Amino acid sequence: MVKGEGRPIPNARLLRLAQVGLKAVSRARPPEERRTNSACGCPSTGLTSNDQSESLDVSSTEQYIAINRINHIYMSRERVSPAISEFMRYLAAHPEAESSLPALSGLSRELGISLAALREQLEVARALGLVDVKPRTGTRRRPFSFAPAVRQSLMYALALNDGHFDQFAELRNHLEVGFWDEATRKLTTEDKAALKALVARAREKLNAGTVQVPHEEHRALHLLIFRRLDNPFVTGLLEAYWDMYEAVGLNLYSGDIAYLKEVWDYHARMVDCICSGDYAGGREVLVAHMDLLAQRPTPTDASSKAF
Ligand SMILES: [Zn+2]
Repeated sequence: MVKGEGRPIPNARLLRLAQVGLKAVSRARPPEERRTNSACGCPSTGLTSNDQSESLDVSSTEQYIAINRINHIYMSRERVSPAISEFMRYLAAHPEAESSLPALSGLSRELGISLAALREQLEVARALGLVDVKPRTGTRRRPFSFAPAVRQSLMYALALNDGHFDQFAELRNHLEVGFWDEATRKLTTEDKAALKALVARAREKLNAGTVQVPHEEHRALHLLIFRRLDNPFVTGLLEAYWDMYEAVGLNLYSGDIAYLKEVWDYHARMVDCICSGDYAGGREVLVAHMDLLAQRPTPTDASSKAF
């Protein structure tokens, strides 16, 4: 039995309702002509009086609710949204596009849009990191990443106003602190070993004859801590933060080796806390390390050239 908003509806009957609903969806008019269901914001089922009379009496509120719920699920699966382009809808509905996409001429016919419009939509999808466009391998759907879209907007924001850096950094800090407990509890033994290895490698760089800024290790350490959340939006925002960090030159040597060593002392303590299961203690060290980073020295032109 499947519970509706009212009394439960038998499975067989629900299956029939689903068939009607799916049939209606397949017959639905183009998105711009569809009415919107005011209750859930979804396009209407597109049911006609004939659909209803020939197949099932769907006059009761309960049955309508069931159909709408089924259609909602179906539409979500199809990723049908009037808010994205025809090309993006196609991409979302075709996982096999990760291997290859049809030729643009055929695709424009299939989607019912001009070649020029398809090229424009393709360019937007490329800018958002949804597709790879390469001369030899052609166009392919990429695994979803939130970072490219955030990066585009963030870099534009920085060009508008330097103050956006601090605002985005603040968002990143809250994100890391907020997700810290959940993320660190999910880390595996291998993850913890990898964190220790990053700390060791960073310290080697800092203690080398010629100082090397362990920026790669810094970025990798923070991203690794949150990777097991398996949340592309958290990961995308954090990756965009590091891209911004590099774009403004904070990955470059500021001339203060003592500061860098102190940062990595904090990282070592964070990792020790994670490995010993002291997640709250690790979060406190994370916050203290963020306060330290807020007072970081600024790279100079001369030192930038050295690295
Ligand atoms: Zn750090």
